[in-house]
Amino acid sequence: MKLRLAYLYPRHLNLYGDRGNVLCLAARCHWRRITFDVTELGPGDRFEPAAYDLAFLGGGPDRGQTQVAEDLLRGKGPALRDAVEAGLPLLAVCGAYQLLGHCYRPAEGPELPGLGLFDAYTEHPGPGAARCIGNLVADWNGTTLVGFENHGGRTFLAPGATPLARVRRGHGNNGRDGTEGAVYRNAFGTYLHGSLLPKNPALADHLLGLALARAGAPELLTPLDDALELRAQTAAAGLALENRRRFPWSDQM
Ligand code: GLN
Repeated sequence: MKLRLAYLYPRHLNLYGDRGNVLCLAARCHWRRITFDVTELGPGDRFEPAAYDLAFLGGGPDRGQTQVAEDLLRGKGPALRDAVEAGLPLLAVCGAYQLLGHCYRPAEGPELPGLGLFDAYTEHPGPGAARCIGNLVADWNGTTLVGFENHGGRTFLAPGATPLARVRRGHGNNGRDGTEGAVYRNAFGTYLHGSLLPKNPALADHLLGLALARAGAPELLTPLDDALELRAQTAAAGLALENRRRFPWSDQM
């Protein structure tokens, strides 16, 4: 059995270990004797939906987002949108998550139109505004997600749009409504860097499970021993919540 991942814009969108998400998915397949192929696609490369079982996009500074926005919207965008409508599992972190919404208005420079996969928009409150930085702990699917966030943009979901998680500590989408990320079909947007998946094995397996089910082999998602991953998660969450207890103002912007 083989799973094929499209890794979009690895040279423009890769912050705080985002590439580690791809390595994590590869390792969790390897431990299950599933072949895992990664294809890196940059601006100008074609995205062929039938060639992939999963897609990943990392985060990036405004400059990196500006460099890929046009290609994402007009180049790969239409095929990517069709693939997500058809159920392609996709994970997009921070800057990519913002560009998969309707638009990103940076602190300076023109608005970047987005793909509109997530019914949400993002805007930076303006030069000099505090960034949303720090450890983030959130509740997802009856379990915990932990990671690190650093973004100037604040994302607002439309009424009826589905957030990925509920913030327990940190800023999340906008530091106000308690939501983190967004979900549309099998596409997941998040502000969680770190990298995200190594410390959140349940979400990693959720993505792999969706891909294996679509490939007709759900039984291959056999259980793994995640003791180490969960110890790392507990330690990271503990640190974040301890910080909150000691410095309650640290969540305020
Ligand atoms: N440049 C975007 C922002 O500042 C995204 C940053 C990121 O991907 N960490 O909001």
